[in-house]
Parts: sequence; structure tokens; C-alpha cells
Amino acid sequence: MTDFTYAVDADGVATITWDVPGKSMNVMSREGFLQLDGMIDAALGDSAVKGIIVTSAKESFAGGMDLNVLATIRDSAGANPGPALFDFIMSAHRVLRKLERAGRDPKTGKGGKPVVCALPGTAAGIGTEIALACHRRIMAEAPRARIGLPEILVGLFPGAGGTTRYSRMVGAMAAAPVLLEGKMLEPKAAKAASLIDEVVAPDQLMARARDWVLNATDAEIVKPWDQKGFKMPGGAPYHPAGFMTFVGANAMILGKTQGVYPAAKALLSAVYEGALVDFDTALRIEARWFVSILLDPRSSAMIRSLFINKEALEKGANRPSVPDQRVRKVGILGAGMMGAGIAYVSAGAGIEVVLIDARQEAADRGKSHSAELLDKGMKRGKVTAEKKAEVLGRITATTDYAALSGCDLVVEAVFEDMGVKAEVTARAEAVIPQDAIFATNTSTLPISDLAKASARPGQFIGIHFFSPVDKMNLVEIIRGRETGEIAVAKALDFVRQIRKTPIVVNDARFFYANRCIIPYINEGIRMLAEGVEPALIENAARLLGFPLGPLQLVDETSIDLGVKIARATKAAMGDAYPDGAVDAVLFAMADKGRLGRKAAAGFYAYDEKGSRLGLWEGLAADYRVAARQPELGEVQQRLMMAQVLEAVRALEEGVLGDIREGDVGAILGWGFAPWSGGPFSWLDMIGAQQAVGICERLASAHGARFAPPALLREMAAKGQSFYGRFGAGARAA
Ligand code: NAD
Repeated sequence: MTDFTYAVDADGVATITWDVPGKSMNVMSREGFLQLDGMIDAALGDSAVKGIIVTSAKESFAGGMDLNVLATIRDSAGANPGPALFDFIMSAHRVLRKLERAGRDPKTGKGGKPVVCALPGTAAGIGTEIALACHRRIMAEAPRARIGLPEILVGLFPGAGGTTRYSRMVGAMAAAPVLLEGKMLEPKAAKAASLIDEVVAPDQLMARARDWVLNATDAEIVKPWDQKGFKMPGGAPYHPAGFMTFVGANAMILGKTQGVYPAAKALLSAVYEGALVDFDTALRIEARWFVSILLDPRSSAMIRSLFINKEALEKGANRPSVPDQRVRKVGILGAGMMGAGIAYVSAGAGIEVVLIDARQEAADRGKSHSAELLDKGMKRGKVTAEKKAEVLGRITATTDYAALSGCDLVVEAVFEDMGVKAEVTARAEAVIPQDAIFATNTSTLPISDLAKASARPGQFIGIHFFSPVDKMNLVEIIRGRETGEIAVAKALDFVRQIRKTPIVVNDARFFYANRCIIPYINEGIRMLAEGVEPALIENAARLLGFPLGPLQLVDETSIDLGVKIARATKAAMGDAYPDGAVDAVLFAMADKGRLGRKAAAGFYAYDEKGSRLGLWEGLAADYRVAARQPELGEVQQRLMMAQVLEAVRALEEGVLGDIREGDVGAILGWGFAPWSGGPFSWLDMIGAQQAVGICERLASAHGARFAPPALLREMAAKGQSFYGRFGAGARAA
């Protein structure tokens, strides 16, 4: 079985069809490249062949490169993997360049064979790069079909000629949304962006491709950069317009990435330097920048967490081996902000939903949340009227617990109150089947305590969503003391159905994500109380690559929620409670009614429409800015270590069982500096020894909360790394 098949018809049209066995989407492997190369040779070498169609037998064209291939080349090439990676990438360039030149005589420009890419559906990454090397691209207007180069989103950039080809096709400025933002375009938008040449009805695709191949002229099969006098659209760097483009692009990248994402900068360098030389030299330059990115620990960490490990977790890396537990009918208790969001994502995934609230109007309001989101989708042309009706038709909004009959899963999202939760648990369990699983979406109450209200604690589990549910892709699954394997599998299968990413953790205060976020927020507030300039605190976080500074984050999640959590934590911890200094600030803000974004007043000021203006000037009156300010690096170390040490403690205590979950969960759950690959990847980057040194210094300057945990000390003494010691795939605890 091969990844590509080759056939020539009676008219001399050769068709190379991509169809990787056993996969729903084509991905490029090393062997695949060799096969494609051989088939291009066969077509170009056969005088009976007039032209070539490259297509796919699947619904889509291709999903991209199997990134494990690049990781394997890098990891198996010893101490200096650069040359091996460079050779591999150059061999890919040679294959695509051969396809592009198509046997044309370089002197006369004659004798080439037309090559068309017929795209039945979505193409991404190398799939799009192969298409760009063809002389013409025809795409079927299939539902959900998209084309683009999303590499930048996993810390890479298009490295198989996509960067050089596309920027030469449309110019650096016009290429930015596709190359720098990784936008995936639907067929018509892709045509407007010159990614494709034609959009046709799906059943016309192959006929149209054949027709083009049989009628193409010599002029149509010579790329602009292979013609004399080629000029870069929009201007090369030393052209006045080009100069402005690159100055602007440089500033834009720095503004967006804060300089911590190496791929965007490397991409721009490849385009800039490539624009100064001929096409083949530009490909070599692209390859060198691409290798530099593959060797950058930040890119490797991002690929490992955001691609390889995220996918492994989504495919059930930590799923107990029990039969399929897919959910057919879910009951959701509480139709507030969270319950309404869970109902929407469940119904969207084809699951029947019973949405219960104490009052009918509250249940109806919960359902209308789905209607609003679907209306938004319709406005953007992503949802049809039929789809909207179908999704809403799956949601029954009611106050009647009897409607829960037949639910194989219940997700409880009522008020954060032990008594209320216990009551609804008992009411639901009286109706649902004996083998149904009951899940709570609590964010602060221990799962094992809530399970006491259940007659079936083995079937009781935490499924913790993040807000807003439709946007946040992480779901934390929490095992209570008595939670059984079926319940874990059920939760994982549910998360898979709604296409989110799960992590499975053990029950402990604030589980994993909130446990790490709270010290981050608290450290920011603590610094404010100490007299650190608030802009320094916020910018220190932004420059580390955090989407929100700690003060903005607490504004977003609301200050009264912070107060509530502080009160509950203090009650539970008694004298051991360490955050009195933080509470003084939080309570004072709450007393002033500055509750955050929802009150249009918090650590930030907001205009009457609720748009954030800037840090609230009144802060200086209550928290005098000290004359001597700490170094930026000091503020950053405090913010970083506050979170990272909590992640290490979660691992040490067995709350986290798998460092992959710790890393992926941190990035998806609270936007932990994605360039770092997550807290454990970041610690591996700086090394345990250096981490211990930083912590000891911080502990003596700022308090015992920074004292290095025993696990970190031990790893420093033994010269170990987290991924070395706990290995990808190995359970850590
Ligand atoms: P919410 O106040 O918006 O919604 C709670 C809903 O439960 C209300 O509609 C209320 O009428 C309903 N309710 C109360 N008692 C009920 C009863 N006896 N029977 C049926 N319905 C009842 O709250 P929320 O923000 O959606 O939070 C719900 C749960 O999710 C809480 O446990 C909370 O800790 C957790 N959570 C919240 C967030 C968040 O960001 N808001 C994130 C994760 C988890």
C-alpha cells in the first residue's frame, strides 16, 4: 500500500492521487515524499504523458506534514542535527521545483508539461505548498473546505517553499494574513487571495482539471519568477514601497509577538532576504531559516505541546481501556453562563441535551444563548438555517427533572454551593439510569466532598469547563477519591465528542489550572501593594508572552470572584493562609465597587461602552508607586515562578499525573506563554539547576512561597530534566 497512486489515461493525462491508507486526511511522511518524487519522474519521463493532475482520493486534499517526521530527523541526528534537517528540506524543495519546472528546457522555455492541482477539499501546510508549486490550482467548493498555511500557529513557518512562493505571488504585504497569521481561507476568499485560481462545483473538479491540462499554453506553465525581469509584487526591500512594507511588517511582528516567538521573525527574514536574490537561492535561504526554527528550543517545545502532545491527549493517551462511552443524551443542571455554554457545544456535537434550571425562563434564557451563537455563525456564513434549527432542536429547556430520564451523562453547573449541588445531585440520580455518570462543573469545591451527596460515588466525576465554553478548548477532568474508570472514560469520550482537549487530574484544591492562575494573579496584586509600578507588572507579563497581565486577568474574571475564592480558601486553610496582603487589595477594590470589566471599573478604567482604556489612575492614590522600581527581569521571574512552582507542586503531590497534561493544560487553560511549551518545558529550557538558583534568591527576597520544591531540588542535584525523567507518555506520579 502506498500513499500516492499513479495512472495515465488514453489522452496522456497522468493523475497522481494522494490517499494515505488508514487516515481520514492525508499527511506527508518521508516515504510519501519519495513516492511523489518517483511519480513525478515517471510522468515527466514518459513521452506519452501530456500533463499531470495532482489530487486526493479523500474528502480533503491534505492536512500537512507529519511533524513527527521532522522531530524524528532532529532527534536521531546526534549532537548536530542541522545538516540532516537542511538536507531533508532541500530534498523536498527539489521535488517541488521539479514539478514546477515540469521538464521545461531552461534555455528555450519550451517542452514543459502542464501540472494542475485539483483540490477536492481542505489543504493545509505542505498540502498547500505542493499546490503552490503546480501551475494551476482548482478547488472544489465543498462545504467546510479551507486552504492555508497555518504553520505559524504551531511555532513554525511554511518551510517547503510556501513562504518564498506565496510572497512572490502576491507581495509581502498581501501575503501577511496567510503567512503571518496562519489564516485558513474558504475557496472564494482563497481565490481572491490568489492561493487558488478557480473554484468549481465538486462534481466538475476532475473534468475541469483534465480540460485545463489538455489546453494549457506554454505561457501558462511558466511561473513569474522563472521569467526574465521578474519583480517582487509590492516592491523588493530596496524599493521605496517595499521598504515601507518591511519596516511596517517588522513593527507589526514585534507588537504581536513581543519578540518571544522566533518563527514570525524568521519568516519575515526569509521573505526579506529571499526577495533580494533569485528564486532558487531564496529557497535555500528559506530552508536555512526553517532549520534555525526547527532547532530553536522554543519551537520544539511549542510543536511538542501544541501539536504532538495535544493530539495525543485528544486521542485518549490517558484513557482507561474500557469500551466506547460516547454520550447520546446529556442532562445539564443549571442554565447559567456555564450550563448554557455546555448545552451549546454538546448540541453542536450532535448530542441530545436536556437543559434544566429552577425556573422555566432561566432554562429558556440558557437555550437562547445557543440561538445567539448560531445567529452569529449565520451572519458570518458559517451556519445554515437548517443547521441552526437542527442544533436548537436537540436542546430541551425545562424545569422538569423527569426529562433527565435516559441521560447517560449529567453535567451539573448550578450555583457554587455545596447544599444546592447536593440537592440537585439527589434529584437527578433519582431519575437517570443506574449506570449513568454524574459530573460536576465546580471550580472550587472538592469533588470527593460533592460525591458524598451521590448514591454512586464511583460514577461521580468533575468535568471542569473554562469560560466562555464555546471558545475555551481545555476541559479539566477531575477524579474524586472514589471515581471509577468508566466515569473517566465517559468524561474523556464526551470531551472528544465536543472536540476539546482534556487533561485528567486528581482532586485537590483548585485542581490544576486555577491552582496555578491564582498565584500569578496574587503575585501581581502583591507587587502592586509593594509599590511596583502597575504598568511594569502588566508589561512584564505581556513581554513574557502572556496574553493578559495579572491585573487585567483579575479584571476579566471579576474581583468579587477573587474575594469569594479568598474567603473560602482562608476558611479552609486557617492560620496557614498566606495571602493576607493580596486580600487587602482585593477587598478594598470590591468595597469601592471596582469589580472588574463587568462593572466597567477595576484595576483598569473603561469607557461607557465597556471598552478598556488603560490602568486606573486612582491606583496610585492607594498604592503609592515606590521611588525605586525593580528590574523588569525580577518582576518577570516572580510572575513566572509563582505559576511554575505551583505546577511542580501539583506534579509532586500527584494532582498531575502526566507532564504533557501540565504543559498543554497551562497553554490552553490560561494562556501560559505558548512559546515556552508550558511550565515543564520552560523549566527544561532553563534547567533545574538554574531554576533552583532563581527560586532560592526569590525566596530570600520575597518569601517562602518561592522555596524550591523537593522534586526540583532533587532534579537539579541529579542533572535531570522533566521530559527526560518523566518522559513523553510515561505517567509521572
Ligand atoms: P450562574 O450563576 O451563571 O448559573 C447558575 C445557574 O444555576 C443559574 O441559572 C441558576 O438559576 C441555576 N440554579 C441554581 N439552583 C438551581 C437548582 N436547584 N436547580 C436548577 N438550577 C439551579 O453560574 P455559572 O457561572 O454558570 O457557574 C455554574 C457552576 O460552574 C459553578 O459551580 C461555578 O463554580 C462553575 N464554573 C464557573 C466558571 C465561570 O467562569 N463562571 C468556570 C468554571 C466553572
